[in-house]
Amino acid sequence: MESNTIWPIEKFTCPYCHAISAFNCIFSQRGVNNKTYYPISVWSCHNCDKGIFVRHGETKNKHESSLFINIKSILPATEPSVDEKIPEGIAEDFIEAARDYNIASYKSSAVMARRTIQKMSLNLGATKGKKLYQQIEELKKSGKLHFDLADMATEIRFLGNDGAHPDDDGLDDVGREDAKEILDFTSELLDDLYVRPQKIAAMKSKRKAKATSGNLKK
Ligand SMILES: [Zn+2]
Repeated sequence: MESNTIWPIEKFTCPYCHAISAFNCIFSQRGVNNKTYYPISVWSCHNCDKGIFVRHGETKNKHESSLFINIKSILPATEPSVDEKIPEGIAEDFIEAARDYNIASYKSSAVMARRTIQKMSLNLGATKGKKLYQQIEELKKSGKLHFDLADMATEIRFLGNDGAHPDDDGLDDVGREDAKEILDFTSELLDDLYVRPQKIAAMKSKRKAKATSGNLKK
């Protein structure tokens, strides 16, 4: 093993405190075997101070191994969870997308995230058989989807590409950044559609109940 770059601060979802937290790289080395470099590093969470282990992509190029962070996997893996208000089939697909992301299966993660959004669109009454961006447009028009969120969907490249052929689905270009973008967006959507409205409704009915019990006492 030989020393490698101490990387600048990065953000990860912490497997211990579950915060999306900043991490310091506190140890970084690379092994060399058969002219291939195998970088590894240890990071500490700013929020809870616990450590994670990161495996980086292997490379034949020594310079590359210290220049590009190229994260392959993080241990321990974060076990994703979602709010119980999210419908079962949709929650399942989202959890799988998050799991894939955690083990650096970025293409699988993007596919599962897109599938989550497709299921969600149908669940909200979008027309079956339409392309995803058309369904999102439809939901925006009918007022079921927040305007900002619907507009954000068109900014995510991978959501626009849902062609029938493997080479025009946009998947070949999906890396960590894209996978993170679509995963964060999906999480935002689920929260906005299934979690927040129910929370507000629960608060309202609580307030009403309080007001009625107040009246009864009089
Ligand atoms: Zn932490």
